[in-house]
Amino acid sequence: MIQPRKSIQRLRKYNPPKEGRREMIRLDFNENTCGPSPGVLKAIKSVCSESLAVYPEYDDFIQELADYLDVRTEQLVITNGADEGIKSIIDTYLNDNEKIVIPVPTFDMFAFYAQVAGASINEVPYNDDLSFPKEMILNNLSNARILVLVNPNNPTGTRISEKDIKEICEKAPETLIILDEAYTQFSDKNSIPLIKKYENLVILRTFSKAFGIAGLRLGYIIANKSIAENILKAKSPYNVNTLAVVAGKAALKDTEYINSYVNEVKSNREFLSAELKKRGFTVYLSSANFILVNFGEENDRICDGLKQKGILIRNRTKNLLLNNCSRITIGTKQQVLSVIKEIDKLKNPAILFDMDGVLADVSKSYRVAIKETAEFYLQKPVEPSQIQALKEEGGFNNDWKLTKELIRRNGQKVSFQQVKDKFQSLYKNRLIRNERLILEKTCLEGLRDRYELGIVTGRPKDEAKFFLMNQGIEDLFNVVITADDVGDRGKPDPLGIETALDLMKKKDAFYLGDAVDDMIAARKAGITPIGVIPPGADQSLALNLRKNGAEDVLASVNDLGEVIQ
Ligand SMILES: *Cc1c(COP(=O)(O)O)cnc(C)c1O
Repeated sequence: MIQPRKSIQRLRKYNPPKEGRREMIRLDFNENTCGPSPGVLKAIKSVCSESLAVYPEYDDFIQELADYLDVRTEQLVITNGADEGIKSIIDTYLNDNEKIVIPVPTFDMFAFYAQVAGASINEVPYNDDLSFPKEMILNNLSNARILVLVNPNNPTGTRISEKDIKEICEKAPETLIILDEAYTQFSDKNSIPLIKKYENLVILRTFSKAFGIAGLRLGYIIANKSIAENILKAKSPYNVNTLAVVAGKAALKDTEYINSYVNEVKSNREFLSAELKKRGFTVYLSSANFILVNFGEENDRICDGLKQKGILIRNRTKNLLLNNCSRITIGTKQQVLSVIKEIDKLKNPAILFDMDGVLADVSKSYRVAIKETAEFYLQKPVEPSQIQALKEEGGFNNDWKLTKELIRRNGQKVSFQQVKDKFQSLYKNRLIRNERLILEKTCLEGLRDRYELGIVTGRPKDEAKFFLMNQGIEDLFNVVITADDVGDRGKPDPLGIETALDLMKKKDAFYLGDAVDDMIAARKAGITPIGVIPPGADQSLALNLRKNGAEDVLASVNDLGEVIQ
């Protein structure tokens, strides 16, 4: 087989942005989360057939860009995204085995194109506090053909001072300094005036970030005329497509849109940083449209958990110096608020509910079904207190078993199947409609805003579903574990609770139950059992629940606010 070039053979596979990011809140790639200005869309829609038929023409756009930047057209090279700008510069200036100095962690494409080129890559780590390692860089510049400076740096957000940039340009006149200003709009810094002073300085910009057209691939290089000419020589002539040019022109005109977006992002950046700090996380100072945050041990869980909720952020924990860190792109206020809300929910313990007696008032359904089934076979009245006594005894993890036991203790013998059939026909044909929601829906909705909610019930799936749908609360719960999910390992076996915790990726939770078995199951699962007195039951149940592990007992589930805040 024909082998590729040595440098390609050595190349590790680059993992580009994943598919399937649409419809999610995309805070993972530092795009503009609102898209381009409406003027850009309008301009693209009005492109005529001829414009598409001919090869792209660039002169007008380059002139407008030069005016916008206050540079001469000869100083500009437009590129297929800043990515291609990086590639063009490396293609033009870096020979096999020549040295490129890259402070890391940083944007992956520098090392990527340098590897493709077969360069010798010299990575200089940022300081431990992620500040700019100026001294180390200066010490590494001998024989360096290219030095990469990303300002503000991605993913750390670190800003490089103008003083440092100048000092480096001066001390390394033989090194080409690439200054990547992909995030310049968010940093209030503009290094273009330095180009006049330093012949070795090249600036990279993009329309992908603030301008919101990452999908069109448009970037540019600003440099001195001689450098720009050399780069032009080495790049393909029609590298930027016509639609990108049309969009770029329109984007430059709508300065108001960009300014207001940038201002919103900056204020949201401060807001999110402050909120995360309040929650005890380390947030690095950022001059870009993203922040880097250290979530500690919880980093992976938070990233994965947010993804489950449709929010993408970028887990950077595998990068040098960024153990337990994630990068979050700053979006609209609403997007930032939903990130905070979901992080809170991930941090807070989950609240798991038993269904019967806790969410569902079954005093007129299951309780009546037990009573009527027993009475049917015993042919004599059964007192509710007898049923309650059995419940409190524990060990009968469903109402059919309990009913059978009740009948047995009253001196009759019937098969489990007989009990079940009678019970189900009473329940499904009539009594199921008597069920009421105990915990008010608005109260559940309030809890759902701050906690992840789940249900672990001994009910069969269809009966659990029926209740939730009937009450219109099925969307409030992240997981619903029913008898169907645990086979013969119902409570007090902790399997149901453990399954719920696994699915929710939680360790910490409350379990609200009205039975001894609920308390035991919760303890075995290592979470906090909270007892609840069901409607119509005697408050003396409290003592029994406590004896079996309840951390607290609520006279009514509506008092829940008292134990969790
Ligand atoms: C996003 C990014 C770019 C690439 O921008 P494109 O124009 O989309 O190729 C370049 N440099 C840095 C630092 C970036 O974060």
